[in-house]
Amino acid sequence: MSVAGTVPTGSWGRQWKGWRSGIREALRNPIAAACRHVHGSPVFVVVYHTVCETNPDHIKNLYRPRTPREFSADMEFLCRHFEPIDLPTLLKAVKGEEEIHRPSVLVTFDDGLREMAEVAMPILKGWGIKPALYVNLDFLDNKTLFFRQKASLLAERLRRIGTDDVRWTTVSEILAMHGVAAHDPAAGVMRIAWDRRAVLDEVAHVLEFDEAEFLARTRPYLTRDEVRTLMAQGVAIGAHGFNHPNHRLLSPEERLAEVVGSTEATATMFGTGHRTFAFPFSDQGLPGDFFDALYAKGVDLTFGTSWPQKPTKARQIQRFCFETGPEPASAQLTKRLIRSAGGNVLRGMRPAAA
Ligand SMILES: [Zn+2]
Repeated sequence: MSVAGTVPTGSWGRQWKGWRSGIREALRNPIAAACRHVHGSPVFVVVYHTVCETNPDHIKNLYRPRTPREFSADMEFLCRHFEPIDLPTLLKAVKGEEEIHRPSVLVTFDDGLREMAEVAMPILKGWGIKPALYVNLDFLDNKTLFFRQKASLLAERLRRIGTDDVRWTTVSEILAMHGVAAHDPAAGVMRIAWDRRAVLDEVAHVLEFDEAEFLARTRPYLTRDEVRTLMAQGVAIGAHGFNHPNHRLLSPEERLAEVVGSTEATATMFGTGHRTFAFPFSDQGLPGDFFDALYAKGVDLTFGTSWPQKPTKARQIQRFCFETGPEPASAQLTKRLIRSAGGNVLRGMRPAAA
């Protein structure tokens, strides 16, 4: 990637200039300097899913979304330490058409949830941030429900009916029959992996959960028209796959078809002019030659969720997620940096990083 790395190269004069600007950045902006140090890039990419005041049942057991106030504070923090960039700018850098030297941040959203447009966008606009949105083609227009969100809804239903209800016992028996071990059925449904997701439908039947009715009433996802409206507001659109599989559970052929097929379909559907992909769950453990095959087939770049892992391939970029708890972005990032080599930079400069 034509993104200036950590270690300056070239002649002694050029190297000294590089080191000098690095020291200046560390003194002026230790957070950005530590991020560049541990990640090997001035570009910091963050990932969110939704922003909401009250955590809804379909999210409750998956992650802890930011409230509007917390999200706004995150954007304030990010804009204080990084310059917001959009996806086209990052793509130019990845392709070597542009260099990024300054600490920069790209904000991304996964899963195509409706609150991204209704709650997050007004806040992002206020900060002049143009995000990238990664959609699942099977969820768009509220056609089908993400299996993990279905599991979260079912877990909440089970908690409400309680242990005395016969359905609690029936679901426990179904889970035991499928070899799902858990101390209670609510925990059990959350353990069901992508390749066993049909078990969730058996549980849904017992609990009389009507998926179509939920999708029509709650409308958790954006429609294609809403995505087009976002594009008109400067939002870049990429693919998050068709139905959010765990790629580690796919065969090499299925994996390739999922990424190449969904990036092509997303680019065609929305006329994006680029093919970018955000891996559902994680891209960890996938073979290196798989990524080479993707890039050879026209995928411009892929995102994972394992920041600060340093990139092994210029087009494979890792992101940071703040949806793990209520702590402010500064605290979460500082903690993460201290756990990694960047702690050495921060320990000496913590007062300025607050
Ligand atoms: Zn996702």
